[in-house]
Amino acid sequence: MKAFILSVALMAGLTVSAQRVNQCGIIIPPQRPNTSFSSVYEARDYVNTMLDSINWKENFTIREQNGINNAYATIIRGQRYIVYDNNFLENLDAYARTKWASISVLAHEMGHHYRNHVVSTSGSTPAKELEADYFSGYVMAKLGATLDEARAAMQQIASPTASSTHPAKADRLNSITKGWNYAWGVNNNNNNQNNPPAPQPQQNPPPASTDASWIYLSLYGNSDMTVYLSDDGKTFQEAPLKTTQPFVFKFEVYNYGWLRFSNSSGTKTYRLNHGKDYAIVWSRRSNSWTVIEVP
Ligand SMILES: [Zn+2]
Repeated sequence: MKAFILSVALMAGLTVSAQRVNQCGIIIPPQRPNTSFSSVYEARDYVNTMLDSINWKENFTIREQNGINNAYATIIRGQRYIVYDNNFLENLDAYARTKWASISVLAHEMGHHYRNHVVSTSGSTPAKELEADYFSGYVMAKLGATLDEARAAMQQIASPTASSTHPAKADRLNSITKGWNYAWGVNNNNNNQNNPPAPQPQQNPPPASTDASWIYLSLYGNSDMTVYLSDDGKTFQEAPLKTTQPFVFKFEVYNYGWLRFSNSSGTKTYRLNHGKDYAIVWSRRSNSWTVIEVP
């Protein structure tokens, strides 16, 4: 867990120092004394309400990280997260003069996970942002927000001009409107206003792994297996492997780390290097599970 926190803190540091506009093209609102989100649990409640409204079982974890002045969707070690700063959301609500502002930003970040996007700290793409905006509009309608309420945050804080990473405000407002209309069945002849926008098929493995330094660990066996991974060779963390999908991860201390598992022939520990892929396979000759490097 220590390693995970380190990586979040690192990313947060970059975000704070680098930009007035975050990776979703949102202009950071000025500080306001007003408060609304009182704790991590309240934001979580909103997220749960949104999930219920579209019958979606979450594929992400929500994490409070104060001081980053931001809210963003990310993937760390193959796991999806929404990371947010309470104060940022409070400032946003005060600035837009509605609680719906922060809710719509959380919905936007959910939209990135729903559509299986990867949004890096260096920026997204306009197409992904418009998809997340559409999703936000859809969810806002499901929660009972008016169109103005659904658009309030974007109206206040979207960057007016397009860039290589985000669309212009007018296009984003339009996308929110389309999602909101879709939920209400406006311009929709199929009478399917209760269906959420189609998610992308779940990509397998998680898309963050396009970075060649990540390690893919595949299990070739009949049943799932729990192994243990360590950044420092001392503390091991549980990693559940599924036979159907590679486990994609990176070590945090060095560009290598350790894999350990037990089977009938005892406990084995292997050193794994970044930039390599590995498979756990059954060895007929040694009559045990073994790790091989995938060429
Ligand atoms: Zn975004």
